[in-house]
Amino acid sequence: MKSGYDLIIIGAGPAGLTAAKFAAENGISVAILERKDTIHDILRMCGMMLVTLSGNYMGERLIYNEEKKLICFPHHGFSVKYDGPAKDFYSWEIYSPGGERIKFGDYATNVQKGKSGRATAVYDKSWFLRGLVEECQKLGVKILTGANVIDVRKSGDWVFVYTASGMTLKAPFVIAADGRTSRTARILGMNKNRGFYGTCASWAYEMTNLSLPSPYALIQPLVQSGDPPMLGFIVPRAWNYNGEDLWLVMVSDTNPSNDHEALCDYFVEKSRFAPWFKNAKKIRKLGVCGNMYGPIVHPFKDNVIFAGDAGWCQEAEMSGAVMCGWKAGNTVAFALQEKLYNEEGIKPYLDWWKKYHLDTLDYTVFMKNLAMPILCTDSEIDYIFSKIKETLPTLLDPYEVPRHMGAAMAKIIPAIQAERPELLKKLGGFASMPTEVMLKNTIRAGYNCSFTL
Ligand SMILES: Cc1cc2nc3c(=O)[nH]c(=O)nc-3n(C[C@H](O)[C@H](O)[C@H](O)COP(=O)(O)OP(=O)(O)OC[C@H]3O[C@@H](n4cnc5c(N)ncnc54)[C@H](O)[C@@H]3O)c2cc1C
Repeated sequence: MKSGYDLIIIGAGPAGLTAAKFAAENGISVAILERKDTIHDILRMCGMMLVTLSGNYMGERLIYNEEKKLICFPHHGFSVKYDGPAKDFYSWEIYSPGGERIKFGDYATNVQKGKSGRATAVYDKSWFLRGLVEECQKLGVKILTGANVIDVRKSGDWVFVYTASGMTLKAPFVIAADGRTSRTARILGMNKNRGFYGTCASWAYEMTNLSLPSPYALIQPLVQSGDPPMLGFIVPRAWNYNGEDLWLVMVSDTNPSNDHEALCDYFVEKSRFAPWFKNAKKIRKLGVCGNMYGPIVHPFKDNVIFAGDAGWCQEAEMSGAVMCGWKAGNTVAFALQEKLYNEEGIKPYLDWWKKYHLDTLDYTVFMKNLAMPILCTDSEIDYIFSKIKETLPTLLDPYEVPRHMGAAMAKIIPAIQAERPELLKKLGGFASMPTEVMLKNTIRAGYNCSFTL
């Protein structure tokens, strides 16, 4: 087998496969290394929502062209094939521990509107990855599975990539698309200057037979406040199980030492939300655990480019990862064409990263979603939720939701001032609280991996 390529990509998730596809379309030789044996086995839990068909995300607004089987990125000017199952859903509903509800989108009205009323759709990530693999194969990308990358070193004009099974490959450029707990980022010392905000662990069941108030919605119950709080998450799956609707039912918290299976069982069997699951059948168990870092500000070192979750804070989402892959793959092709085997060649990607990640998304907003459940009691959250009666806009952008929640909260300040002045004082205090202070226990409980191997 040949060992020298124009580009080596580590990780065959959405970012890596998209980078491989677009680099190979430009005629360069590409090898992609994936540690899983089967790329489309989804071992790591994912909500599989298209972020997003109902609003902007990272400067893009997706179009899902169902007739032509394409997910389109019109602002960036490219599309990727998707001919798998999809299911629309119509609202995002967040429940307080006592069952008060804040709605992003009115479910009944949006269902009536059909496509124009949907919050977005869910897709099948396994199918999506299979489509990308097929496209890469047609373009001649060398796909190596069961290839666990354990080291990456630059020497002279080459970057050498080493796998656990003893394989060594080399290329002038490497794209690290190895996900949220990127080993490549750790090896190259990229985590040293990133803020560490904790480790989030989740456990889920795929279940049939739920009795939900809004079956085709994203439902997020704050199961319990506290430090850490217990957060629930229910979303329909794009596919059915034995002809029946299927949902992902998940709980998350930020103490990775907790027994998350027990927490999920509590959620579905004993919590106030248990009636939704009274007749439910558990079909499959899933889990995920990952660190919350600040983003890599300069995602390039020793001719290694970071793409997707490997360089972002928490999740780039599938759409963000695909956009990173598209830009990174094209940029490497450009650098090789111009014979710029250095940072100058990669500048278009670095400029793009700054514009669409760092300048567009305030990553701390993601963390601020944790503020209320950590700092308020169950009854305080119930009270606040009960005061927000308006239906908020139908949207799915995780960076927009806190903005609309903030605006809704601002409107109820006079009522809180009159009825619960002590709560208003408390809320005012944590609005200006630094993220590191708010998350101090989360940070302490987490497993920071910022050391260099
Ligand atoms: C609970 C949860 C829910 C989510 N819900 C959604 C959602 O609804 N919609 C959405 O768009 N996004 C969602 N996401 C985020 C989404 O899954 C990611 O943002 C996206 O998959 C990132 O793609 P990626 O290619 O950057 O990384 P990944 O998908 O993580 O792919 C990385 C790949 O690299 C491989 N790899 C890792 N290390 C090595 C190594 N050392 N050697 C070789 N290969 C390696 C991995 O096996 C993997 O295949 C969710 C994430 C979580 C945790």
